[in-house]
Amino acid sequence: MTDHTKTEYDVIIVGAGPAGLCAAMYAGRGMLKALTIERGAPGGELLNTDLIEDYIGFESVKGWELAQKMAEHAKKFGAEIVTDTVERIRKRDDGWFDVATARGRTYRAPAVILTAGGTPVKLGVPGEKEYAGKGVSYCAVCDGAFFKGEVLAVVGGGDAAVEEADYLTRYASKVYVVHRRHQLRASKILQERAFANPKIEMIWNKQVVEIKGTDRGIHHLELVDAVTGARSNLLVGGVFIFIGFKPNAGLVEGHFKHDAGGYFVTDDRMMTSIPGLFAAGDVRSQLTRQITTAVGDATTAAIAVEKYLAALREEPQLVRMAREAVRE
Ligand code: NAP
Repeated sequence: MTDHTKTEYDVIIVGAGPAGLCAAMYAGRGMLKALTIERGAPGGELLNTDLIEDYIGFESVKGWELAQKMAEHAKKFGAEIVTDTVERIRKRDDGWFDVATARGRTYRAPAVILTAGGTPVKLGVPGEKEYAGKGVSYCAVCDGAFFKGEVLAVVGGGDAAVEEADYLTRYASKVYVVHRRHQLRASKILQERAFANPKIEMIWNKQVVEIKGTDRGIHHLELVDAVTGARSNLLVGGVFIFIGFKPNAGLVEGHFKHDAGGYFVTDDRMMTSIPGLFAAGDVRSQLTRQITTAVGDATTAAIAVEKYLAALREEPQLVRMAREAVRE
C-alpha cells in the first residue's frame, strides 16, 4: 500500500537553485508541507559561477558558498530536499498535480512551484556536439582549469559571456570574445571590466560557423563576418559558449501561456496560466535573470501558494454558503 504521507504534499518545488531554495525556506516558515526535488546538488546556476558580487549584502562570495548557505537556511526551516529528476508535471482532473520522476516516483500536491531554470542554448554548428567535453564547454567554472596557458574563445555578448571570459583569463593566456554584433548586451560594469582586461580581445561582427579540430581536441573556429560575409579562422584550444538559456518548460504537460522565448508568463503572484502552477526564477518571462530577482519571485510564489491553498480550502465552504443563500 502506498504511504501517502510520503507522496502527498501541500506544495512541490521543482529545482533547488536560489529560487527553489528560497521558496522552500518560505514554505517551511509558512508551515506548509513542502517537497523540493533537485536532480543535482542544491545551488543550481550558483554552482556554475565562481564569484558572485551582485547579491546584496554579500560584496563577494563564492557561488558554492552561497549555495551552501541558502540550502542550510532552507533546511533550518524544515525543507525536505530529495535528489531525483522531475520528468513530468501533469495537472489531473481533480485539480491536483502529479509530479513524476526518473526514479519512478509520483508525488502529488495541489500546488507546484517550478524553479527548474534552463539549459544552455547550443550554437548548432558542425563540431559542437563532436567536441562537447573535448574543448567545447558551457561552464567556465567547471572546465576553465583544463585550459591553463591556452588561447580560448568565448562566444556571446551577454552578461554570462563577458563575466565568464573575465574568469577564464585566470587560466588562459588569451581569451577572444566572439560576438555577432558590434555592441555587447552585457551590463556596463561587466563590459568595463572586460575592456580593461589585457588578456581579453573582442572580435566583433563574427558568427562561428564551424568548430574544427583533430582527435587531440579543438584546433580552430571558422568564422563568418556578419557585415562582409568574409570567412576567417581563429586558432583556439577551447571554446566556451554563452549564448543564452532555454527555459526547462518541457516538463509541463499541456498548454500554458509563454513568451516568444518559451518562458512562462505569470501574473503578479507568479502563477502561470495553469491554476496552481507557479513559476519563479529563470523559467519565468521577465526583463532580467539575477539571483536577486529569482529569490524575489520565489518569495512571492511561496506566499501566493499559502493564499491559494487557503482559498482552495475555503472554496467548498463558499460554494455551500452560496447554495444555501440561493435556497433561502
Ligand atoms: P543573454 O543575455 O540572452 O545573451 C546572449 C548573448 O548571446 C547575446 O549577446 C546574443 O547576441 C548572443 N547570441 C544569442 N544567440 C546567438 C547565436 N546563435 N550565435 C551567436 N551569438 C548568439 O544570455 P546570458 O548572457 O546567458 O544571460 C541570461 C540572463 O542571465 C540575463 O538576464 C543576464 O542578465 C543574466 N545573467 C546575469 C549575470 C550577472 O549579472 N552577473 C551573469 C550571467 C547571467 P545579441 O546581443 O546579438 O542578441
